[in-house]
Amino acid sequence: MTAPPRPARLTVLSGPSGVGKGTVVAALRKLVPHVWVSVSCTTRAPRPGERPGVEYYFVDRDRFAEMVEAGDLLEHAEFADNCYGTPRMPVIEHLAAGVPTLLEIDLEGARQVRRSVPEARFVFLAPPSLDVLVQRLSGRGTESADAVVARLERAQVELAAEREFDEVIVNNDVHDAARDLAALIAEG
Ligand code: 5GP
Repeated sequence: MTAPPRPARLTVLSGPSGVGKGTVVAALRKLVPHVWVSVSCTTRAPRPGERPGVEYYFVDRDRFAEMVEAGDLLEHAEFADNCYGTPRMPVIEHLAAGVPTLLEIDLEGARQVRRSVPEARFVFLAPPSLDVLVQRLSGRGTESADAVVARLERAQVELAAEREFDEVIVNNDVHDAARDLAALIAEG
């Protein structure tokens, strides 16, 4: 008889809005294809090129509420007027099968996972500086001055969350950040 696989550790990557979490995770996937990246549910509309079940499961608000009610989500949060959540079972199954698993979620979601899965490793992706984050957040030039101010205030609050995390990776360079994250995941 072969021994059952050793359960893998859950890694949670979070950080301020606009820091580039999605880009770092895309680079990580190429570096370490054996790491499973959880597919979230969201009520937001797909962006061009996004495929159902790949980037996200796209659901309506009623379906999302049903999943919350049924306890199907490990965590969930509202972000920019849309709901996002992590389906619980696939995470449990991958970890039990010994597959290193990564969640890429917002700060509110990371705090919820901290409460329910305290043994997970929590990684904060930080911008090189507040100035860089400000540039990224206001760079599109499509938003009103009020909206930009609101985003900047939020960015300050989000940056302060760094101290709640086990590890900090500074996103100076996407590939370096992905390599650092891969190394943390490999430590188990
Ligand atoms: P986007 O709409 O740009 O794909 O994602 C917006 C934000 O939602 C990002 O900060 C992303 O990390 C976060 N997010 C994506 N999936 C989840 C999830 O399942 N739970 C939570 N709490 N946040 C998520």
